[in-house]
Amino acid sequence: MILDGRALSQQRLEILKEKIQEAGISPHLATIIVGSDPGSRMYVRMKHKACEQVGIHSIGLELLESSLTDELIRRVRMLNEDPDIDGILIQLPLPVHIDSHQVLEAVSPAKDVDGFHTHNIGSLVAGMPGLTPCTPTGIMTILSDYHIPVAGAHAVVIGRSIDVGKPMASLLINADATVTVCHSKTSDLSYYTRHADIVISAAGRPKLITAGMIRPGATVIDVGINHVDGVLCGDVDFESVLEVAGAITPVPGGVGPMTIATLMENTYRAAMDACRPAQ
Ligand code: NAD
Repeated sequence: MILDGRALSQQRLEILKEKIQEAGISPHLATIIVGSDPGSRMYVRMKHKACEQVGIHSIGLELLESSLTDELIRRVRMLNEDPDIDGILIQLPLPVHIDSHQVLEAVSPAKDVDGFHTHNIGSLVAGMPGLTPCTPTGIMTILSDYHIPVAGAHAVVIGRSIDVGKPMASLLINADATVTVCHSKTSDLSYYTRHADIVISAAGRPKLITAGMIRPGATVIDVGINHVDGVLCGDVDFESVLEVAGAITPVPGGVGPMTIATLMENTYRAAMDACRPAQ
């Protein structure tokens, strides 16, 4: 079975559009991009387009590559204080001279629709409610919407980054999976993947996962975004793994669209929370 993230994301966006209309709210998302990297600009455009599709108002701040950490933090604080703004997204990666951690920590946790603030990461690890990172949350939605059992399953997460691998492991633990996290220093990666019911690869290494590494019938989620000879591909050798896996996400058209759909859902959640009277 091919797990069609593109189709699923469209369904989710349609449902969200109705929810926003029914709630009679008008969520606002602000994006900040620094510099002119074409890839980052494309992602931001896609996010604004999704906003338009569901009825989220969006504004985009474009800052010069030469902008400094303090300048960015000042902009973030202005957005934090703006009652019209529900969500703030800082497009990563930031230029190397900017302290990304400081900038992400400046975002109000209530408006942190990327779920990268340590407050939200702490809530996730503690199993408390909060905004959770879009890519791993989108993957959980794929698993649940395709009825792939997670509770009791052995899930192997490849990658331990703060935006994908670590929150992915936490979400799976919170959903009662048995989780193994592998990374660049793991020796004999295939030993772990061969014993997995679910393999989630977020390494950014083309053809890292081959058919011999997958237990027949297992679910394979490919987070990787790689360019080989100008062609977009994931971490998984798709054609060969398709023969053994029970379910698999393609690249493109798998995890990527669900990341954007989840960003829209997080913005809606942030807007709904902002409407609730303070306790
Ligand atoms: P990262 O570079 O921060 O982390 C990569 C992780 O993979 C590291 O923890 C590293 O230890 C591990 N790794 C690298 N080589 C390995 C190997 N040979 N064996 C085992 N582990 C290995 O990257 P990231 O931000 O976590 O992103 C990972 C990939 O996912 C990238 O290709 C990125 O472009 C992609 N990505 C896709 C989406 C999406 O929406 N589809 C979102 C975020 C990231």
